[in-house]
Amino acid sequence: MTKLGRELAAKGVNVISLSVGEPDFNTPEHVKDAAKKALDENWTRYSPVPGYPELRQAIVNKLKTENNLDYDISQIVVSTGAKQSLSNVILTLINPGDEVIIPTPYWVSYSEMVVLAEGKSVFINTEIDNNFKITPAQLEAAITPKTKLFMFSSPNNPTGTVYSKDELAALAKVFEKHPQVFILSDEIYEHINFVDKHESIAQFDSIKDRVIIINGFSKAFAMTGWRLGYIAANKTIAAANDKLQGQTTSGTCSISQRAGIVAYEQGLASVNKMKEAFARRRQLVYDLLSDIPGVRTNLPEGAFYFFPEISSFFGKKDQDGNIIKNSSDLALYLLNVGHVATVGGDSFGNDNYIRLSYAASDESLIEALKRIKAALGKLA
Ligand code: PMP
Repeated sequence: MTKLGRELAAKGVNVISLSVGEPDFNTPEHVKDAAKKALDENWTRYSPVPGYPELRQAIVNKLKTENNLDYDISQIVVSTGAKQSLSNVILTLINPGDEVIIPTPYWVSYSEMVVLAEGKSVFINTEIDNNFKITPAQLEAAITPKTKLFMFSSPNNPTGTVYSKDELAALAKVFEKHPQVFILSDEIYEHINFVDKHESIAQFDSIKDRVIIINGFSKAFAMTGWRLGYIAANKTIAAANDKLQGQTTSGTCSISQRAGIVAYEQGLASVNKMKEAFARRRQLVYDLLSDIPGVRTNLPEGAFYFFPEISSFFGKKDQDGNIIKNSSDLALYLLNVGHVATVGGDSFGNDNYIRLSYAASDESLIEALKRIKAALGKLA
């Protein structure tokens, strides 16, 4: 959709993009300065495969001070974005035929990475009525002797759902009964949480050794292009990821890593400023979306997305008589008629919804929601 939106924009159409998954802020100045300094100091050679020890130490310190989690640097592997971290974990852990439980909706690449590893995705469906959260009973029912991994994100992309400590504790109780299951906890949106402090499922000692935390700098520090992510995991998994990465990409960009050290050492002031803007826009979009007949939304607790239900428009016709059959049709209609780019929920494993990113200015959001309302109002 981002690509189609760009094509339309190249033809001179004023398209508002709510389809991208990245903050609309610049990388903080102190992080950019650290990168410039790294260049001047010639941090330009190959780095150790799992990352510079100083960066891994900064990650260990962050996990202790922010999350009260104890790790050793031998348990940290830094990669070319959280995306490579995810891919490393799945490729090293999943053998052909292994089952991977993924709650829907989920971030697009999860299931495709499982395909690459020749595993089998097993989906647990969630809906807006339960704030897109799975229950312990649903989890228990999905686990089989072939289950190798459970993977989820909290805060979630595309729904913004945040699991509370009690909810995670209840899921941990289920995992206690199934010692063959690893838990991949994607915490890349950790700092964009509007309800409470971030809770990691790694805090439960009974399962910690089987939890693989995924995190990175893309969202918290508006560093999507810098490609910097990491895992915190048990030593065997960390060593396997190191080994795989040593034969694929090697250590990630040296300049990005040096900047990452400074980002973590200097704390969260810039993140909190960004979060304030997201909090304001979340309320804005919530109010505007709630005012559109036929659209059902919740108030997401984190990340910077809404995932409203839009299935009431299925079966309706556009002005040329084309029938809207699914979420992709609706997203395409909103692009062509409303000139707003969104993403159909089918990309995230749930076709009754669309994803809107509110990583855009307040004025763009107000105009975009006005256009969406007008376009949807024309469907008959
Ligand atoms: N996990 C989730 C849930 C994401 O939304 C994204 C990025 N859209 C990533 C991982 C990958 O992040 P990175 O830029 O660090 O590769």
